[in-house]
Amino acid sequence: NQPKKTASPANVRVVVRLRPYMHKDDQKQQGPCVRGLDSQCLEIINWKNQLETLQYQFNAFYGEDSTQKEIYTGSIEPILPHLLNGQNASVFAYGPTGAGKTHTMLGSPQQPGVIPRAVLALFRMTQAESSSRNYEQCDISISMSYLEIYQEKVLDLLEPKNQDLPIREDTGKNIFIPNLTQKTISSFADFEKHFIPASQNRTVACTKMNDRSSRSHSVLLVKVKKKERFPPFRQLTGKMYLIDLAGSEDNRRTGNQGIRLKESGAINSSLFVLSKVVDALNQGLPRIPYRDSKLTRLFLDSLGGSAHSVMITNIAPEHRYYFDTLTALNFAARSKQV
Ligand code: ADP
Ligand code: MG
Repeated sequence: NQPKKTASPANVRVVVRLRPYMHKDDQKQQGPCVRGLDSQCLEIINWKNQLETLQYQFNAFYGEDSTQKEIYTGSIEPILPHLLNGQNASVFAYGPTGAGKTHTMLGSPQQPGVIPRAVLALFRMTQAESSSRNYEQCDISISMSYLEIYQEKVLDLLEPKNQDLPIREDTGKNIFIPNLTQKTISSFADFEKHFIPASQNRTVACTKMNDRSSRSHSVLLVKVKKKERFPPFRQLTGKMYLIDLAGSEDNRRTGNQGIRLKESGAINSSLFVLSKVVDALNQGLPRIPYRDSKLTRLFLDSLGGSAHSVMITNIAPEHRYYFDTLTALNFAARSKQV
């Protein structure tokens, strides 16, 4: 029995991360098309006319020297305690393909990203809680699900046989997916045991399917459940979604044709609905169009309301990204709470 969630203003933090140049040659030949001004502001420079610049302000700007740890401690760590209070959270990585979404969310063993850091921290927090007096009256359990939304279909990454799963809503407006695999995890090692093979499966599928990763949304769901040991056995569940969104590039402009056009249509509409949802939340509109796409339906209980959300917009410095960067910054600027 969840306590009633009270309607409150949207709590969406919007941050931007600029990745470094990947090739030193590019850097020598051209100045970057994005320049940080301070810890919140940046400007984008039109390379055809260096005098034409546009400035933006966000909740935070992380420059090319920013570390995985800075992103995590600055923007993710603060939302974790809310999960133990039964509130929901979502972290989105948005931006064009190649701008650093997967690096930010997943990272590498040498430079772990948001996902491993957040999961590890949750285990530490629940252990701390379990040694406090509070815990004597509660059992805490953590579980995970991992899914992909591809062409408006929900696919279970922990059990690939589960394809095209429906998204349901209970009377309390809690979202759930019947039949989606949910694994109880009792340690970080346990998490990795399920997560690593599933991400690898996904990577294999991606290479076979011509970089499907750039056109699908991958969604990790971590649930923290607290259950009282004594009557009235109240239960609190906090959900956190960690999302590596599909590339935000405009596939029509980049010349994707044929089969892929259908794919990009589906992706663009999902991302488009996401931007409409964020707009509506920030303007306090009475109707939020969550139900207009699979992606946003899933976040009906975890984006807006009492949920805590962070949108990390990833951008790249190279000139060839100029239009995609402009699009991404405009999306992020609209997402920013006004
Ligand atoms: P996306 O998931 O948005 O398509 P990736 O995360 O795959 O982009 O990043 C593209 C490339 O850039 C990868 O080789 C990645 O390791 C590298 N990269 C991205 N962001 C950074 C960063 N902040 N520092 C160092 N390398 C990065
Ligand atoms: Mg990626």
